[in-house]
Amino acid sequence: MTKQFNAFEMAQAQFDAVAEKLQLDGGSRELLRWPLREYHFLIPVHMEDGSVQVFKGYRVQHNDARGPAKGGIRFHPQETVDTVRALAMWMTWKCAVVDIPLGGGKGGVICNPPNLSPREQEQLCRGWVRQVVRNIGPVQDVPAPDVMTNPQHMVWMMDEYEKITGGHAPGFITGKPVEVGGSLGRTEATGFGVIYAVREALKRLGIDTKGVRASIQGFGNVAQYAAKKLIELGGTVVAVASWDNNDRRAYTFAKGDGVDVAFLLSITDRFGSIDKDKARAAGYGVLEADAWIEQEAEILIPAALENQVTGETAQRIKPAVRLLAEGANGPTTPEADAILKEKGIFVIPDFLCNAGGVTCSYFEQVQSNTNFYWPKDEVLQRLDQKMTTAFHAVADLADDTGEYMRDAAYMIAIQRVATACRLRGWV
Ligand code: NAD
Repeated sequence: MTKQFNAFEMAQAQFDAVAEKLQLDGGSRELLRWPLREYHFLIPVHMEDGSVQVFKGYRVQHNDARGPAKGGIRFHPQETVDTVRALAMWMTWKCAVVDIPLGGGKGGVICNPPNLSPREQEQLCRGWVRQVVRNIGPVQDVPAPDVMTNPQHMVWMMDEYEKITGGHAPGFITGKPVEVGGSLGRTEATGFGVIYAVREALKRLGIDTKGVRASIQGFGNVAQYAAKKLIELGGTVVAVASWDNNDRRAYTFAKGDGVDVAFLLSITDRFGSIDKDKARAAGYGVLEADAWIEQEAEILIPAALENQVTGETAQRIKPAVRLLAEGANGPTTPEADAILKEKGIFVIPDFLCNAGGVTCSYFEQVQSNTNFYWPKDEVLQRLDQKMTTAFHAVADLADDTGEYMRDAAYMIAIQRVATACRLRGWV
């Protein structure tokens, strides 16, 4: 029988390998390879048809030595507690590598939102909060949106929390609409953050941003803002890949002299699917889905899904490519990673590269807790500062030790969390 892929076992294996490199003591290893706490509960919902359906919910707090746990809540029919555990652990490392004073957490409910009415979804959100209200909150654990949860869900959750605890507590949750305590700049944060890191990497590689070429997989939230920012810095985006919104297949949309982001946005739906007929009519090459990876460009940015850069596709990367910036989570398979190393391609690993999102969520939390909201320019300037500092800390360690960028990022993150645990006297 083939073994099922288990995200948590993978997260533990990654941790074990880095713990070994760092020569971490036995107590720290045992503490950090497991979640510190987890809550499993049931949420009964009165359905529109008069029946009661009981949903399974989770909240996992992997580690909070550096600050309140932080991480999204997924609504997904295939959710498992091991997925939530893995994601919670990855949040611990992501917050630590960008040096924000937060730990890692994640939540989930096994459900399929498209099959639920708005009222049923609201009950699910409020029920989730009621089950964990004693164990989460602005100074304990701060949730956020994730797969199939959105700003409306966050407002219902905040409202329930405030009803139970009394008073206003916008710092309880992030990803809120700007009208009720959200942060300006959140929409742009992940994509812009990717390019702040890319800009710094180019400096280290001695490549001018003016005229630099990038090929991007994806044209959703992350990819759109990454493309915009790179072009603003003088670069050219020679291709983007996305689903087509007619025949439900992915394609690469190529334009050697550079795509026009505003035009592409005008033919893209809210899910990031491009209308291929309109793109073709405007002179774009409509190529096979994987063609984005074999474009003549200095930069590749996978910003769509996990496991897209594989042992097979990585072989097709052109010699011109110097940098691969992982906008998506887990876009590179271990086989592809080995090929990237061999080709000498500089990699900005996912949990550093796309940390602009969580960094801006942290800014939202700070603004909500102080009840004082910053202008967008200030949010983005602080984001740039955080990303730039985090990037160079990792790149410096990689330079000093000869470690691969991904390993250096893990080493910094795990070391920071282990130090906090030790200073607190936990280990
Ligand atoms: P999104 O849903 O807005 O966009 C996804 C894009 O990928 C769409 O354009 C879609 O057409 C395209 N796509 C999907 N499958 C494809 C395929 N096989 N070939 C080509 N294109 C394909 O998602 P997003 O918010 O931009 O997130 C993208 C990635 O970044 C995900 O891995 C996500 O977990 C990660 N991420 C997002 C954020 C954030 O703040 N949005 C933060 C951190 C990490």
